[in-house]
Amino acid sequence: MNGIELKPCPCCGTEPYTHFTVLKNDELHGFVSCNNPKCALKMSFAIKPSSILLNFNDVINGLHDIADRWNRRANRMSSI
Ligand SMILES: [Zn+2]
Repeated sequence: MNGIELKPCPCCGTEPYTHFTVLKNDELHGFVSCNNPKCALKMSFAIKPSSILLNFNDVINGLHDIADRWNRRANRMSSI
């Protein structure tokens, strides 16, 4: 993912990973999770289409937003 950078976990400093779970009603669902099993900080997300159908730009923009949210988070999990 060029230009999309996830910062290490704010809790433990471990590299996070992004995982997509399901495409449902043209929303792409997934989560960003800390790679440390003892920490397991997790932020779920849904990328919504900007028009009728989800397209590549929606995914890219969505991923930027997600990375932004992950990178800005200071501490605890919030339900989104
Ligand atoms: Zn962590």
